[in-house]
Amino acid sequence: KNLPNASPTLAWERKSHVPHTTSRSPEASFGYIFVGAGTASFAAEEAVREKDPNADILIISDEGLPPYQRPPLSKELWLEGADVQQLTFKDWRGGNRDIFYAHPSSYLTSASASELKGPLPSGKSGKLLVAKVVAVDPSKKTVSLDNGVLLSFERGVLLATGGRPRQPAFSLPEGKATIYRTANDYQQLEQITKATKSILIIGNGFLGSELAAALSSRGVNITQAFEEDGHLALTLPRYLSQWTTSRIRSQGVNVLPNTRFTSAKEDPKRGVVVETSDGGSVVADHVVLTLGVQPNSEVAKGARMAVDPEKGGIAVNSFLEAVPGVYAAGDVISFQDTALGQRRQFEHHDHAVMSGKTAGSNLVGAKTPYTHQPMFWFEVGPEINCEAVGILDATLPTVGVWAKEDQAEKRYRKGVVFYLREKQVVGILMWNLFGKIGTARRILEQRRMVHDISEIAGYFDVHDS
Ligand code: FAD
Ligand code: NAD
Repeated sequence: KNLPNASPTLAWERKSHVPHTTSRSPEASFGYIFVGAGTASFAAEEAVREKDPNADILIISDEGLPPYQRPPLSKELWLEGADVQQLTFKDWRGGNRDIFYAHPSSYLTSASASELKGPLPSGKSGKLLVAKVVAVDPSKKTVSLDNGVLLSFERGVLLATGGRPRQPAFSLPEGKATIYRTANDYQQLEQITKATKSILIIGNGFLGSELAAALSSRGVNITQAFEEDGHLALTLPRYLSQWTTSRIRSQGVNVLPNTRFTSAKEDPKRGVVVETSDGGSVVADHVVLTLGVQPNSEVAKGARMAVDPEKGGIAVNSFLEAVPGVYAAGDVISFQDTALGQRRQFEHHDHAVMSGKTAGSNLVGAKTPYTHQPMFWFEVGPEINCEAVGILDATLPTVGVWAKEDQAEKRYRKGVVFYLREKQVVGILMWNLFGKIGTARRILEQRRMVHDISEIAGYFDVHDS
């Protein structure tokens, strides 16, 4: 039983879990139920309201906050001018911003669904139920909460549940470790940073690398340790990964590559002692874990929806539909990238926005396929600021074009890197080079080949100062 309109590559069967059934009657009914209150959910809510301004949408979040964006949690919120309690920060123009998409007071918020029934009171623009969804039954049009409450929806449901951080293989002393993802984690780590002398960050992905760079200016000794031999080693070609490591070291971060941790314990005199596989140890006052995320797709599995057997995301068709009437968007989906001819999971902001919009408009009957080629950006300290599209897989061959620099420490100041699969350009990384996302998207869509590289590279104006 494959998905309707599924691509031929979606060959796996739906898991045969029995959907959650119940004889209870729903406590409350809503037009639409959106599970998750992240970026994808907010974008979908906006898209629904564009067509149907008075749509009765219930957003359910187990995090408890109205929709907010996460990128500032590893960047701007650590810089001067940020307010930890208000979650405000200075943007690049020096203006005041906060992380919320709409002011938190504009949501009618409750932990009780009955209090959220009916039309919105004046001055409120959305409904937020603080609860965890444990099951969705598309045929009965119901959603079950972990407190036993059953809710129903009349028109449609959106799964925008994102991902949760991967846990380490060993336990860490309570109160001495942060598995970082949420605004709440940021607020706690801010307090900890003020009260401690040393922090160990484990992981070398986007989050660990951005946080190491951001925290290095806070007067705390930062150590960053990981198994691979350089930063962003799964994403960058080796020379660039090594270069990134050298730039992060130059900011005062003590970088420990090729380090595998096996256990941790608290030593009352020294702090947390994290032991390594070669018999050594690293000691810090606090440990921050950044080991990637796993998609929150349990709700879909329970409702016989297909999940990607490799990465675990909810498999959607080109309209972002998992099964009829159930749409999904954001980090949690496995979608078909038509330009690159493969299924992908993409854990970045732009994809959450654009897939959320598409899913939202399809919930109100648009039938728009998701053909957007998502981009992402990352900032690792002041010297590395990048944008990218497509597949950035460090195991692929790459061609890099770099601005000429006389000084060795500026060697990779600005450039573009093309990732190749069977001689086709499948990914483009723009390194300290901006305004070229549209060009990069076109190159992927046109399936340009390696023999065109010198022409293609010319579009990026790498050699202009
Ligand atoms: P999420 O934001 O994860 O939202 C999902 C929500 O659903 C969560 O609140 C979750 O608690 C809730 N939920 C899950 N399951 C349930 C359930 N069963 N019941 C109720 N609620 C549930 N991307 C970039 O492109 N550039 C960046 O610079 C960048 N910086 C980032 C910095 C940080 C610190 C982090 C963590 C991520 C960053 N990202 C960045 C990635 C980007 O933030 C994510 O891709 C985006 O948040 C995904 O949005 P989403 O709505 O799919 O999921
Ligand atoms: P990531 O996927 O970027 O990197 C995870 C890292 O953890 C990888 O380097 C991997 O080798 C390592 N790892 C995985 N399992 C491990 C284990 N058991 N032991 C040791 N190391 C292990 O994820 P992240 O850096 O944790 O970021 C979390 C999420 O937030 C991701 O979805 C990421 O895309 C997103 N994010 C994005 C940005 C951005 O786009 N600028 C910034 C921050 C976070």
